[in-house]
Amino acid sequence: MCRALVTRITLSNLFERLPLSDSVIDDLRNVLGAIVRTDAEILHSRRHDYWAVSHLRDWLKVALETPRCVVQPTTTAEVQTLLRYCNAHSIAVMPFGLGSGVCGGILPTNEVVLLDLSTMNAIREINEHDMTATFEAGKNGLEAEEAVAAHGLTIGHWPQSIGVSSVGGWISTRASGQFSTAYGNIEDIVYSIEAVLPNGDLVQLGKAPRAAAGPDLRHVLMGAEGTMGVVTAVTLSLRKAAQRRAYSAFYCDSMPQGIEAQRQIIGADWRPPVMRQYDASEVKRNFREYFLEGKALLFMVHEGPAVRVEAELGDIARIVAAAGLQPCDPAVAELWMGKRNHVVEWKDFFEKGAVVDTIEISAPWSKIDTIYDDAVASLKAREGVITASAHSSHAYRSGVNYYFSFAALCEPEAMESMYFDCWRRVMEATIKHGGGIAHHHGAGRLRKPYLESDLGATGVALLRTLKAAVDPNGIMNPGNLIPEETITEYPR
Ligand SMILES: Cc1cc2nc3c(=O)[nH]c(=O)nc-3n(C[C@H](O)[C@H](O)[C@H](O)COP(=O)(O)OP(=O)(O)OC[C@H]3O[C@@H](n4cnc5c(N)ncnc54)[C@H](O)[C@@H]3O)c2cc1C
Repeated sequence: MCRALVTRITLSNLFERLPLSDSVIDDLRNVLGAIVRTDAEILHSRRHDYWAVSHLRDWLKVALETPRCVVQPTTTAEVQTLLRYCNAHSIAVMPFGLGSGVCGGILPTNEVVLLDLSTMNAIREINEHDMTATFEAGKNGLEAEEAVAAHGLTIGHWPQSIGVSSVGGWISTRASGQFSTAYGNIEDIVYSIEAVLPNGDLVQLGKAPRAAAGPDLRHVLMGAEGTMGVVTAVTLSLRKAAQRRAYSAFYCDSMPQGIEAQRQIIGADWRPPVMRQYDASEVKRNFREYFLEGKALLFMVHEGPAVRVEAELGDIARIVAAAGLQPCDPAVAELWMGKRNHVVEWKDFFEKGAVVDTIEISAPWSKIDTIYDDAVASLKAREGVITASAHSSHAYRSGVNYYFSFAALCEPEAMESMYFDCWRRVMEATIKHGGGIAHHHGAGRLRKPYLESDLGATGVALLRTLKAAVDPNGIMNPGNLIPEETITEYPR
């Protein structure tokens, strides 16, 4: 059964897709009107997402293909019409939120219709009584947060990219915000999802605050990265803006010492929304005035009702002192708050001869220290690597994430292979010691070769079966996320 479905997808990908000729585009324009755009400027601006490799290829002046056309809907009905048409003609469709994805989820060819959701950006409702807000999928995250903040509410979802990412993108990549340790990741914040399936049918998934009415179908779209349909609107559960905010910070003699302190804080049932721990190398780079030789730094942002914040501050100070940590000026956490949403320009690094990236993984408490040691050592062993470091930024009852950073110097023509080799080293160290390969950036085309490590071979087969059932003509973002049956190297 599974194999037959997989074969259908493969065949439709290879043989049945209608070439996107001018007459097909004209036909599409007859159906959808002026929202079908083919002007050079829009095609150029939607060539890729924020993946470092696509930016590197741009910088190296490698000619990247543009989509054949860009469709900019303003209604769900238009998305339905587009998908019905493309499904009937086996035309590939690639959703584009605001293009801040960093794993190559968006890499169109000239045979692709790019569906630009940024034009679907209305606020449908802010319901103060039920504490929900409904946005169209292309709504900019910061604008969504500001809209609810005007009512004294917050979404509580603060990815670093909040100003350059969409609410539909958050769903599609299973995003995580900086305040997740208390407020949860996007799957904890989402209330319901409106989506258009590849055949044009409309689904509304999520009806009440909680359900035991079969599998939670919202998860078919959460993290699907455009492969299962198009998210057209999202309802999020809100919370009241915090009454009080406070900061705390501590030095650790080693990363394991700080990680153990975090484990004890979470184990004692405290949930500071932000709990971040930087190794000495990152302290020196990001918080120079607080750097102490050989010391890691753990800081927290505490939020909520004033009485709870006071109690949390007191008990956490006790826990970390018992774990051997030393106090640091909490102003370091305020410093981080002020600069936390900075978006880097990749070309600034390329021009200095450096290729850089960050790689987030997660693991249970018992495995995270070994992964850190092995990943950093493996990166440092690569000739050309000048920095290899990490911080943790999201803690859970059963474990924590690490966010590795690397920088390597090499000739421009060697940058791409350097990049993939550094990624391979962190992925292999994570897999070897039992960690999960992706904490929050998604998989895209970048992590696709490693997906089997998280899902298992049977899990990948199940994902293919699901894809084949939902999208039998394989029109949604082909080549993204779901491994083909044989992959020997990174897809280009
Ligand atoms: C500087 C920087 C910092 C970042 N920090 C964080 C962070 O703190 N936390 C975090 O989780 N991520 C972070 N990211 C990654 C990125 O911002 C998130 O993955 C974000 O959720 C992507 O949203 P987007 O609207 O830009 O999606 P896009 O990049 O446009 O798309 C991402 C993927 O989802 C699909 N997609 C987009 N919209 C839809 C839709 N409506 N329906 C179906 N499929 C869709 C696309 O096809 C693509 O595969 C960061 C990125 C940058 C550049």
